[in-house]
Amino acid sequence: MMFFFFAVTSDSRNLGGRFCRRFPCCGATGAIASVTCVSQKFIFFFLPLFRFGKHYFVTCPNCGAVFEIAREEGKRLEKDPRAEIDPNAMRRTGGQAARFCPGCGARVEAGMRYCPYCGRKL
Ligand SMILES: [Zn+2]
Ligand SMILES: [Zn+2]
Repeated sequence: MMFFFFAVTSDSRNLGGRFCRRFPCCGATGAIASVTCVSQKFIFFFLPLFRFGKHYFVTCPNCGAVFEIAREEGKRLEKDPRAEIDPNAMRRTGGQAARFCPGCGARVEAGMRYCPYCGRKL
């Protein structure tokens, strides 16, 4: 009997906080956001065959919008812990990080200005 084992694994690594002059989503300025590197590998019989490559993501600390960072820019950020994120190298993805009300802890939608549960300004 033939038996094959294929798998795609992905691991994500936090590269730490990087300064970003401006976020295109909500106009947040001068914020430090943490950059995540996700790398995917194709595994065959437990041997990593090849990498699909790396993807870099950053989340706006103000509104929770998720951006993918251009690969070259991501590599630069990975090498240099003091590099700033270039806003022109960020591309908005559909994703949205969870956001929580600081008053009551309820999960709230990204675009909301007031918490629908306790009325606190977000
Ligand atoms: Zn934002
Ligand atoms: Zn609330």
